[in-house]
Order: sequence, then structure tokens, then C-alpha cells
Amino acid sequence: MILARSCMDAGGNSLMAGKKVLVLGGGFGGVQAAISARAALDSTHEVTIIDRNRVTHLCGMNPLLIVGERETDKAGRSLGRLANRGIKYLEASIDLIDTEDRKVATSAGTLDFDYLIIALGAQYDWDAVPGARGAYSFYEFAYARRLRRRLSRLKRGKIVIAASKPPYKCPPAPFETAMIINWWARKKGIRKNIEISVYIPEPGPLGVAGKAASMQVRNALDQRGIELVTAAGVTEVAPDGREASFANGSSTSASIIATIPVHRLPDVVAASGVANGKPWVPVNRTTLETSTSNVFAIGDVNVVPAGDFAIPKAGVFAAGQGKKVSEIIASRINETPTPGPYDGVGFCFMTYSGGRSATVGGEFLAEGGPDTFLSEPTVSGMKSKERFERDWRSFKI
Ligand SMILES: Cc1cc2nc3c(=O)[nH]c(=O)nc-3n(C[C@H](O)[C@H](O)[C@H](O)COP(=O)(O)OP(=O)(O)OC[C@H]3O[C@@H](n4cnc5c(N)ncnc54)[C@H](O)[C@@H]3O)c2cc1C
Repeated sequence: MILARSCMDAGGNSLMAGKKVLVLGGGFGGVQAAISARAALDSTHEVTIIDRNRVTHLCGMNPLLIVGERETDKAGRSLGRLANRGIKYLEASIDLIDTEDRKVATSAGTLDFDYLIIALGAQYDWDAVPGARGAYSFYEFAYARRLRRRLSRLKRGKIVIAASKPPYKCPPAPFETAMIINWWARKKGIRKNIEISVYIPEPGPLGVAGKAASMQVRNALDQRGIELVTAAGVTEVAPDGREASFANGSSTSASIIATIPVHRLPDVVAASGVANGKPWVPVNRTTLETSTSNVFAIGDVNVVPAGDFAIPKAGVFAAGQGKKVSEIIASRINETPTPGPYDGVGFCFMTYSGGRSATVGGEFLAEGGPDTFLSEPTVSGMKSKERFERDWRSFKI
């Protein structure tokens, strides 16, 4: 009896029994969280990951994929392979998250948990901008494939890349995509017949990376003859996809209008109450824990304030956060010292062409405010990007 009591925590739970770590979402954050948790816990504890898509795609490949520089059959990875690492994968749609009763209802049954990691990303609201659903985009794999087919036939005309509203994933994506299209059109010998414009809702490009980086991007676009229109989020696309209207009152016609959809909290997360009615899930910035103990939210689904902005919605940050929450969970289960606080450090690629890539990122939670930079594009930067893609496919990240 004495022995039994000494193995109970304050809540009456057995410390000896295996714990259940449940990860919702098998994207960047969820996979890294599951891999790190599995590595830090012995086999008496279970790590399960749920995602409705067995095969997930690397969105970061889309800007090169649309111009034929990446193969569509090499842009995905199967979550089934996580079984090799002792992680249970459940292919199911998550229908309800009950943090009070510590249960998650899915299309394949209900699971309980001791520790929950919500990594369900951002949901696209294709209908927030009338006409966007039927227009082009490069923000989802199926849309990127369609745009790839359209671009392969394009010989002349205007291409408009149009974001509606921040925040959106990968803040460099509209600019890198415009520059990649510029490079591709030059390579094809059709650049003189093609106009490229980027419309964004923000007052300047890539503000989250700081003033110097923003100016670098402006100059890079300018040097390449790419039009940049700021404070002009797209508000509507005509049903034929050939005309767009913007928040500054302007409109333009184009051969291809590719929108960045409005991003919002996934419905199932909003319904769970874990966001307390906020647009994104608020978390403790040092532990990424929600207001419910042992329930964490990582990656695009959360908001971590950083200076005048928030930690960008990017895979590198989602993965870093996944690693951190797994360390925290493992320390609680293994009763080891609490790890240091989340540092908001992350670097990702900003590609300028098929052969050169820059690095953008920094320490977003540095004392005194975010410490960020954008490097010059280099050939070795592209080699690092290619390595990143290979590592992603083999679950190293
Ligand atoms: C064009 C583009 C380029 C990008 N380039 C880069 C880059 O170069 N570097 C970088 O770091 N980031 C980049 N990103 C951003 C990056 O893809 C995201 O920030 C990252 O995927 C977020 O990770 P996450 O784990 O939070 O969510 P996600 O990776 O979106 O994962 C969420 C998962 O949850 C699953 N899910 C959601 N709802 C449910 C449900 N109800 N039931 C079951 N499963 C569900 C989804 O299927 C998905 O697999 C880019 C994004 C785009 C669109």
C-alpha cells in the first residue's frame, strides 16, 4: 500500500504506468514532436500521431514545383513509415478535442491521452476571398500541380501573385515564387512577354524579418522587373479567374491570378475552446503549453508574440517547437530537470532561382526583440535547401 501510494502523483495518477503522448497532426511540427518524444521515452510509454492524410507534402517545394524544377512524385512522405521508429500512426480525421476529459474523437475511434500536442496547422479559408477557390494558387499541393500545368503552356501574359490577409505561411513565399517565375521565364526565353506582379496586404515585404530584409526584398524584386504593390490585399477574383480586385481600390486583369488563401484556426481546434476565442491558440511562450496543463499547441496553429509580430508560420519553427515540447513532456514523465525555455530560433530558405537560395530567419525571442537577417542568395544555399528536402523526405526533420 505504501509502495502504491509513493507511485501516485498529486492527481492520483500512477507514475509507474506507461503514459500516452498523443500528437494531433503529422505535418512539420507533429512529426518532429513524435520523433523526439519517442527517442526520449522508454517503450512503456506510447507515442501516437493522428493525421487524415497518410501522405503529406512539403509545401516548401511548391514554388520550384510549379515551374517544373521539382518532381510531383518526390514531394511527399508517408506517415506509415513512422512505425519503423516505434510511433503509432492512425489515419483518421480528428473530429473533437476534449481537453477536460482528455479524449480525442476521430473517424477511427476515440483515444485518451496523458499529454496532448496539437499540431494541426492552419486551415485555408478558400471562400473568404470570392473567386479564390476557383483561381490558381501554390499554397496546396493539388493547386500547385494545376498551376504547374498552366505555366507549362504559358507563352505570354501577366502573372499576379496575390495575398489577402496576414498571417500566412512562409512570409517569403510570395516573393520567392515571383523571383522563381522570373528566372524560369528568362530561361524559357519568354520573359519579355511576361509581366509579374505581387500584391500584398502588408505595408512592405517580409516585415517580420526586419527593415533591412524588407528593403533587400524590395530591391531584389525591382532589379528583376517584378512589380510590388503593398497595402493591397486581394479582395475578389472574377469567376473566370482573369481579373482581381484589391483592398486599395485597384483592379487588374491577368492571364494567371494565383492567390494565397486566408489562413485560420482549424474548425476542430476552435470548437475545442483551447484558443479561448482567439484567432490562434495562445500558449506560454517558454513551454508552448496552452491554458490546460499538459496540453501543448505548436506550429502554425499557435501564436507566439515576438516584438511587433509573432513567430512566423513556417515549418522550421513548427519543428523546433515540436522538439521543445517533447523535451518538456519527457522531463515530466522521466522526472528529469525542466529543459530551458523555447528560444524562437529558426532559419529557412528564400529561393531566388533554380540555382540560388538565401537564408532568412534569426532569434525571434531574443532579449531586446527579434534578431533577424536575410542572407544573399548563393549556390551553396541551394545545396543546403536540397539537403533540407532530402532530410524531410527521410524523416530526419
Ligand atoms: C508555398 C509554401 C512554401 C513554404 N516554404 C517553407 C519553407 O521553405 N520553410 C519552412 O520552414 N516552411 C515553409 N512553409 C510553411 C510550412 O509548410 C508550414 O509552416 C508548416 O507545414 C507548419 O507545420 P505544422 O506542423 O504547424 O502544420 P502542417 O504542416 O500544416 O500540419 C498539419 C497537419 O494536420 C493535419 N490535419 C489538420 N486538420 C486535421 C484533422 N481535423 N484531422 C486529421 N488531420 C488533420 C493535416 O493533414 C496536416 O498534415 C511553406 C508553406 C507554403 C504554403
